[in-house]
Amino acid sequence: MNEKIKTDKSGYIILPSHERYDEKRKVWNNLIDRYPAAIFECLSDADVISAVSFAKKQNMDISVRGGGHHLAGTAVCEEGVMLDLSKMTTVSVDEKRQIAIVDAGATLGDIDSKTQKFGLATPTGTVSETGIGGLALGGGFGYLRGKYGLTCDNILSVKMVTADGKLLKVSKDEHSDLFWAIRGGGGNFGVVTEFELQLYPVGPNVLAIDTMYDYKDAKEIFQKLDNYMKDAPDEISVNTAIMQLPPAPFLHESMHGKRVIAVSGMYAGELTLETEKTLIEPLQELATPLMDNTGMMPYTDLQKKLDPMVPKGAEVVGTSLFFKELDEAMLDIIFDSMESSPLPMAMVQIWMLNGQMNSVSADETAFAVRDARYLVLFDGEIVKGDPVGGQEWMDSIYEKLTPFSYQKTSYLNGVKLGEEITKNTYGDNYSKLAKIKRDYDPENLFCYNHNIVPE
Ligand SMILES: Cc1cc2nc3c(=O)[nH]c(=O)nc-3n(C[C@H](O)[C@H](O)[C@H](O)COP(=O)(O)OP(=O)(O)OC[C@H]3O[C@@H](n4cnc5c(N)ncnc54)[C@H](O)[C@@H]3O)c2cc1C
Repeated sequence: MNEKIKTDKSGYIILPSHERYDEKRKVWNNLIDRYPAAIFECLSDADVISAVSFAKKQNMDISVRGGGHHLAGTAVCEEGVMLDLSKMTTVSVDEKRQIAIVDAGATLGDIDSKTQKFGLATPTGTVSETGIGGLALGGGFGYLRGKYGLTCDNILSVKMVTADGKLLKVSKDEHSDLFWAIRGGGGNFGVVTEFELQLYPVGPNVLAIDTMYDYKDAKEIFQKLDNYMKDAPDEISVNTAIMQLPPAPFLHESMHGKRVIAVSGMYAGELTLETEKTLIEPLQELATPLMDNTGMMPYTDLQKKLDPMVPKGAEVVGTSLFFKELDEAMLDIIFDSMESSPLPMAMVQIWMLNGQMNSVSADETAFAVRDARYLVLFDGEIVKGDPVGGQEWMDSIYEKLTPFSYQKTSYLNGVKLGEEITKNTYGDNYSKLAKIKRDYDPENLFCYNHNIVPE
C-alpha cells in the first residue's frame, strides 16, 4: 500500500540559467564539475515523486543529493535530473519509543542537535556536515559503531520513492526485500525521503580520546593498538590518522610540517577510575605523546570536532580498503606511501573495527563486510591543475594494498566508482541485490552510485 504522501511544501526547479544553478551543482569535493539539465530542489515527498516521474518520462538519468559528501560526487549528474534533498531537514524524536524520524536531507549535525535534547543519539559518522542519506544507505561508521553498530543497522524503516514514482514504506514487515537491500546497497533502489532510526541513551558528556604521537613511533603504536583492540570492549572506538601538521597559528612553530599520528575515538560507557586506568590510559601511553587532549566533552561537540579539518571546496582524491590483519608488509606500504606522497595534505586513516558492527552476519543486510578489523582510508587534496597525478597515486596505493586486504573489499562511501570494487565489496550479496534491482529499477534509472546492474 502507498504511504501517505507529504505534499505540504513545494520547492524550485533550477535550470542552468538560474542564478543559484552554479552554487547548487557544487558538492563537497570541488573536483566534481558536472552540469545537470535541471536541479529539482525538493521539499516534500510529492516533489520527489514529480522529479522521479519527470526523469523517467524524459528518459533522463537521476542523481540524488543528500549532504553532497560522497568523494566521487555521485550527487551530481551530467545532463540528467539532480534531486537536491538538502532542504528536507526536519528531525523529530519519539522519546518514549527512542526513535528519530529524520528527513533524508538532514545532516548528522541536524540529527545530533535534536536527539541530544532528549539525551539520545543514533550511531552516525564523525563529521557533522555529512548527510544522513548517503551515509546511512552505504553503511555509516562513527564513534558508536562498537556499541550500537553501523548507521544502516539502526534503520527501522524508510519512506522511499521507487522508479515507478510510488512512495513505499519499507521495513522488516513491508517490502522486506528492499529493506534488506537499502541497508548498505546505497542509492540504487529509489529515493529515500524519510528515515526512522533507532536511538540510545548517549551523553550529554562523553569521554573523547585525543592523543597525538610522533610518526617516528608508528610501528610500535600500531603493534600496541592491534593488541589492545583484541580485548577492547564494544564501548571503545579508536581511529588513527597519519598526517603532516599544517603551519597553523594555533600550533607551535616546532610542530609545523611535522608528521604525526593522531589517535582519537570515544568511550561510550560509564567511566570509572578502573576503566580509566585499564582502558583509556593505555591509549595515552602508546609512546611519548606530543599532545594529549583526552577528556570529557559534550557528545555534540565531539561530533563537530573534525568539521574545521574538512571544509567544503577542496579538490580531493581518495581510496579505501578493509583489512583483517595489520600485516607488517601492509603497514610498510602505508608508511612508504605517506613518506613519498606527492600531495602535501595527504592523510591516511586507520579505523579499528570491533563490537556490534561485526556481530551482524554478512547476509543479514546488503552491507556485507562484517569480518574486517581495520578500515583504511586515504585522502589527499590535489594542487591546482594536478601536476603530480593525485588520482594515479591513489590508484597505485589501492593496487599495492589490495593483496593484503579483506577479500578486496572497500568502504563504498569512501572510494571512487568502479564495477570491480562494487562487486568485490558486495561479494555473495551482489546477485541478490541485482535481482532486487531488476524488480524495482529494471531500467537502472538510479545509476549515479556504486551501481548494481539489474539482473
Ligand atoms: C568530510 C567527510 C567526512 C566523512 N566522515 C565519515 C564518517 O565519519 N563515517 C562514514 O561512515 N562516512 C564518512 N564519510 C563518507 C560518507 O559516508 C559518504 O560521503 C556519504 O555518501 C555521505 O552522504 P551524503 O548524503 O552527504 O552524500 P551525497 O553525496 O549527497 O550522496 C551520496 C550518494 O548517496 C545516495 N543518496 C544520498 N541520499 C539519498 C537518498 N535520500 N535516497 C537515495 N539515495 C541517496 C545517492 O546515490 C548519492 O549519490 C565522510 C565523507 C566526507 C567527505
